[in-house]
Amino acid sequence: MHQAFFHWIEILYATQEHEIDCKQFQNYLPAFVEAELSQLPLPHTAVLKSHLQQCPDCHEIYEGLRLVVVAEAIEPFSSGAAEFSPIPTGD
Ligand SMILES: [Zn+2]
Repeated sequence: MHQAFFHWIEILYATQEHEIDCKQFQNYLPAFVEAELSQLPLPHTAVLKSHLQQCPDCHEIYEGLRLVVVAEAIEPFSSGAAEFSPIPTGD
């Protein structure tokens, strides 16, 4: 289930300590967000965070992805759906 996640981790470990570009950053972003929300340890968070602070574009993507991941984790509407029932047509 988390194979993709561990693949990202491997990429992260293979990364140089300094300087990543936007493309690299965005590759790591799903792992970064997931790790952050589940409070997992992740390598190179300092590099990622410093890029985040320097780059408004990536920050925007980060914020968007974070909202999606949080929303998926909470699923606020799924429990209420069962309460809806079709109006009886009456025959
Ligand atoms: Zn960037």
